[in-house]
Amino acid sequence: MIELADAFPQPGHNHARCVSHALDRARAVFETKGLRLMELRRQVLEEIAGSHHSIGAYDVLEKLAAKGTRLAPISVYRAIDALIEAGVVHRLESRNAYFACHGTHGDGGTGAHHLVLVCERCATVAEIEHGEVMSALDAAARGAGFEPRVRVVEVAGLCAHCRASGARP
Ligand SMILES: [Zn+2]
Ligand SMILES: [Zn+2]
Ligand SMILES: [Zn+2]
Repeated sequence: MIELADAFPQPGHNHARCVSHALDRARAVFETKGLRLMELRRQVLEEIAGSHHSIGAYDVLEKLAAKGTRLAPISVYRAIDALIEAGVVHRLESRNAYFACHGTHGDGGTGAHHLVLVCERCATVAEIEHGEVMSALDAAARGAGFEPRVRVVEVAGLCAHCRASGARP
């Protein structure tokens, strides 16, 4: 799991390493499931992992088109679904967009539980683990007679790097 302190990437870090790590991990997850990280899925993941920001499906489509790969929207959505199922891409509900998982948890499809922090200034997305928050959520849900399965909490605000640079929300 990602430690709290380095949940957000350092500005100017070697992002090529993040991308290759995301691709390696995707390859491994698909292999474990007896599937292959097909070329289309690889390309889509490369675009989504291209930054630590969230990206919409149509932006992925446009970026691929700009590189000469013209796809039908349904193909992109299917590739994204497969990547989400593999746990290497997550959906950012509040923005109807997607972001690459740079953590080590592989279970994105079922039983997912994570806290997603979204910086309103630089648009960076980071995931953190917080067991107590999740237990409190579970307790609240069960108190309402509800059996929680997927727990994703999105929090919007200002990341440490933007705060350090004097930004105000
Ligand atoms: Zn990076
Ligand atoms: Zn993740
Ligand atoms: Zn920020």
